[in-house]
Amino acid sequence: MSDLSMLINGLKVTAERNATFERRNPLDGTVATRAPACSPADAVMAVEAAAEAFKTWSDTGPNERRMLLLKAADALEAKTPAFVEAVPAETGATGMWAGFNVMLAAGMIREAAALTTQVAGEVIPSDVPGSLAMGVRVPAGVVLGIAPWNAPVILGVRAIATPLACGNTVILKGSENCPRTHALIIEAFADAGFPPGVVNYITNAPADAGAVVEAMVAHPAVRRVNFTGSTRVGKLIAMTCARHLKPVVLELGGKAPMVVLDDADLDDAVNGAAFGCFANSGQICMSTERLIVDQRIADAFVKKFADKAKNLPLGDPRKPEPVVLGSVIGMSTVEHCNALIDDAIAKGAKLVCGEKATTTLMPATVLDHVTPAMRIYREETFGPVKCIVRVNGVEEAVACANDNEYGLSASVFGRDLARAFRVARRIDSGICHVNGPTVHDEAQMPFGGVKGSGFGRFGGKAGIAEFTELRWITMQTTPRQYPF
Ligand code: NAD
Repeated sequence: MSDLSMLINGLKVTAERNATFERRNPLDGTVATRAPACSPADAVMAVEAAAEAFKTWSDTGPNERRMLLLKAADALEAKTPAFVEAVPAETGATGMWAGFNVMLAAGMIREAAALTTQVAGEVIPSDVPGSLAMGVRVPAGVVLGIAPWNAPVILGVRAIATPLACGNTVILKGSENCPRTHALIIEAFADAGFPPGVVNYITNAPADAGAVVEAMVAHPAVRRVNFTGSTRVGKLIAMTCARHLKPVVLELGGKAPMVVLDDADLDDAVNGAAFGCFANSGQICMSTERLIVDQRIADAFVKKFADKAKNLPLGDPRKPEPVVLGSVIGMSTVEHCNALIDDAIAKGAKLVCGEKATTTLMPATVLDHVTPAMRIYREETFGPVKCIVRVNGVEEAVACANDNEYGLSASVFGRDLARAFRVARRIDSGICHVNGPTVHDEAQMPFGGVKGSGFGRFGGKAGIAEFTELRWITMQTTPRQYPF
């Protein structure tokens, strides 16, 4: 029997034939959650409930939507203790990360609440005498949101909050790695009193993800898809959406560069690097993955950075002692990172702190003198294993920052702000911070990447454009002249 229910049309439901799957704790293998393993037919029922609810939800006034979203934000915060228990159990992340997730996610719901009166349009001058021409933003329809496990509350909320604010109905497809955490989000929306069918939730066994997603994307009522996850799966989803001509927002992987110029304040840069590299054990799409350091200050930077990194506390996040690094999501991350460490060392990199791990408790690990010949120079580690690339001057730093398939977040540290800003402008990424870490998100900011990091933007008004249809509507106010 499942510990959890899905939510379809306001009803807590199990999957067809009561099918379930288990999520186990990554550290000790104990069952963290047993969740419904929906079939494609279950998923289609969720779409149909959302399609029915859209008929009335899309007509609700902005203040009604705002009020419900504000209640959902409060309900989410009220569940903080449950999130602080569920996130470490399912993903191995720390309680601190869970708490931060709830705080930012509640802010995202409140920002979405503020957007309800910003879903506007414009009057456009027409060449036809007497024609009042408007560009009007209207709800798109049913929105399918697919969220990953790594920032589970933030990304689960992000997948549905702005779509709801715009008057769409939604289905959240929870991550197989954190079905309980994602279910808590849905409970918060249910507690707020959203009408049946407006917010739906399904969970699936890992092997069924492709079929379940395809069945929903194929349904004519689904008019927008948003996916946050790896570039590999993002490409599969983009192909599915292309086959059915469905617009999709893709928030994918990253390999964020942090450029440390020769005039950087080293303490500031070390603090920014440590946070960007090791928050949530490097399992954030914006995680600093490449430290691109001017060789004039590299020795001093590396020493300070290694001293800081090796002292970051690591341990079981379910124990009372606070830790910065908890468990990573699974042994596949350990094996992937260990292979990158072996490859880099074999090709001449120097290990300055940390080591290969044998369990999912991975220490902060830093490799210096990394070159383009090494896999870690290009591949996302998505773990606490980081590389330092030494460069000679600004031109080499910019070239190195752009020498990657991804383009999500980036940062530049330097005291000469004008020079640092010029470098930031030349980096090919959706997001770039001068004298700030690569890991930084705020609900009202346009968030998204370029190149292999995907396309489309969440956050603030940028999200309205993604989850509404822009219609051209005219009203002829005088007799129209025709040529015949
Ligand atoms: P993932 O791509 O492995 O899985 C995410 C989702 O894809 C899951 O819900 C899964 O059910 C679904 N899925 C798997 N196979 C599928 C298929 N064949 N068809 C349809 N759906 C399928 O990603 P993950 O491991 O959960 O997350 C880590 C990745 O996400 C990293 O690469 C990270 O950089 C990226 N990420 C990006 C952002 C961003 O905002 N850009 C944020 C967080 C994470």
